[in-house]
This record gives sequence, C-alpha cells and structure tokens, in this order.
Amino acid sequence: MEKGFVVAIDGPAGAGKSTIAKLAAGKLDFAYIDTGAMYRAVTWKLLQTGKTFSAELAGKLANEINIEFRPENAVNRVFVDGMEVTEAIRTAAVTGLVSKVAAVPDVRTAMVDQQRRMGNEGGIVMDGRDIGTVVFPQAQCKIFLTATVEERARRRGKELEAKGETVDYQKLQAEIALRDKQDSEREVSPLRQAEDAVYLDTSDMNIEQVTNKILELVKEKL
Ligand code: C5P
Repeated sequence: MEKGFVVAIDGPAGAGKSTIAKLAAGKLDFAYIDTGAMYRAVTWKLLQTGKTFSAELAGKLANEINIEFRPENAVNRVFVDGMEVTEAIRTAAVTGLVSKVAAVPDVRTAMVDQQRRMGNEGGIVMDGRDIGTVVFPQAQCKIFLTATVEERARRRGKELEAKGETVDYQKLQAEIALRDKQDSEREVSPLRQAEDAVYLDTSDMNIEQVTNKILELVKEKL
C-alpha cells in the first residue's frame, strides 16, 4: 500500500517542518529526508573553499558533492564527502548564505535529481520549499506548513536559548523574513503552496497536535 507513497511538507523558514516531518516519519515507519540540509551542505562546502560566492562555483560544488544522511535515534546526522557536518550546516554563516546558493539553477537541478532518487521507492516524508510543486508533484499527501513570522521567530529563539545563546528577537525575525522573501521571489522553484496541498497554520498548535493532524491526513490517503 505504502509503495511509492510520498508525504511532501513545504513551508517557510522556522515553521517546524523538520521537527514535525521527523516525528511523522517515525510514526509511519517512513524514511525522512531534510532537503534544506542538502542546500545547507552545498553552502557549507562553498564556505570551506574560502572563495567568495559565485553561481558557477556553487553549481560546480553541487554536482561534485556527496551528501549522506545517517539517522541515529532522534538525530538525523548529515555527512559531506564522508565528514560529519550535522552541526556545521546550522551556523549563522551558512544560514545567511543558503538562500543565495539555493537560487542557483544548477544547484537545484543537482539537488532535485538526488532527492528524486532518494524518494523514488516511496515510504518517505520529505520537507523543503518545492517538494510538492517540483520534486514530487505527484506526491499523495502534500502539506503547506506555516505560522506567523512572530511565532516562528519565538520558536527558533527558544531553541537557541535552550542551547545557551542570547537571542535578539527582532533581529531573528528580520532574518527569517528576509530568507522567506529570497526563497519566495527567486526565479527557479520559488517557495509556494502547491494547489493540492493542505494549508496548515500552526501558530496556535503544539508539536503533538500538528503531528497528529499530519498523520490523520496521511491515513486518509493511505
Ligand atoms: O529548511 P531549511 O531552513 O534548513 O532550508 C535552508 C534553505 O535551503 C532555505 O532557506 C532555502 O533557501 C533552501 N531550500 C530550498 N529548497 C528546499 C529546501 C530548502 O531552496 N527544498
């Protein structure tokens, strides 16, 4: 039944997509693929070269890179060319540049190819910006997960505070809004809701409620 079944979760930055997608995948016994981590991995690799950003360099690296996911308990470990980058791809430097890298057409072609290969067999939950519109337009279950920008900044801020960081909420909100703008306004595969996606505003929902809602939507389609 679940052969070929794809759950596509798209939405803006900080909407909780990866948390929810990981939980839902666990409950469904599906694999989970975090496509944002792939664009972050290419960005990390570009920063490692010490060279300044160019579309040409980003495209070249995206075609050479070897990205691997090794899920371990609750952590989705990420490796680039055999080296662990799970934490390194979450730094402010990567977050600040990733939308520019992700807007490069050659980068997207390379990543989408890999994502389709990874998800080919189905039994997966994939989250990102263009999964329901471009990567798997035939996905059986599509969800557009969002929340107000204030709420998304509040959630992200709490996570950072839990790690011992001091948070400037206004700055955080401005960064999230800028990333959404860049992701929504780019020419290739912009962030937008697929026509057949279920719109889910999670501003007033907790993690358990959102996960249950998604499981309900998946079960209706299975
Ligand atoms: O999901 P996350 O916030 O980690 O994604 C990081 C960035 O990667 C996004 O801001 C976006 O620029 C890019 N991205 C994308 N397409 C996807 C997933 C992420 O362009 N499917």
